[in-house]
Amino acid sequence: MPDSLATYHKKRSFNKTPEPRGKVHKRAANIKPTFVIQKHDATRLHYDFRLEIDGVLKSWAVPKGPSLNPDDKRLAVRTEDHPIEYGGFEGVIPQGQYGGGTVLLWDRGTFENVGALEPLDAERKGHLKFRLHGKKLRGVFSLIRMGRDEKNWLLVKGDDEFASRKTDLTKSKPKSVKTGHTLDQVSRSHKVWQSRPRSQSRA
Ligand code: MN
Repeated sequence: MPDSLATYHKKRSFNKTPEPRGKVHKRAANIKPTFVIQKHDATRLHYDFRLEIDGVLKSWAVPKGPSLNPDDKRLAVRTEDHPIEYGGFEGVIPQGQYGGGTVLLWDRGTFENVGALEPLDAERKGHLKFRLHGKKLRGVFSLIRMGRDEKNWLLVKGDDEFASRKTDLTKSKPKSVKTGHTLDQVSRSHKVWQSRPRSQSRA
């Protein structure tokens, strides 16, 4: 069976990045699958949208972040599968490493599939529909692939009671759901950590 995390592992040097190595965790059907959104200030700022499917976090990079407006179609570019452990990651990926820059845990929670197919089949077919139970994002969203073999998908809010044409949560709720920190604070706390005296870092 192919290892769906092979690409994730190949792109990273785990002695140089604080990101978790992780592994595939197939979980019992009665455990609610998780989702996570990480704000990632890399070469270009984007939001990484991740859904737990088949033991890994299927991932999309959303340049503009999620919108609550059902009229918005947000580009979501499929990226490599990440381990479920990545869902707890917040910190700084060193410059020169893959994805170098600050990662802030913007939202997390669980999701329910509300599409006709099982999530793994729906992902292969290029049409996922799910209800999010996050700290910031709630309600139905769809991820729709634009072409047969394309990496480009669209993230669209369903028109339910959580939809809004006025609120932009990326602006009104910018802080981490893990630490309450802003992107600058996450970067700064990392610099403090990096500048510890050598004796302390060896302890
Ligand atoms: Mn990213």
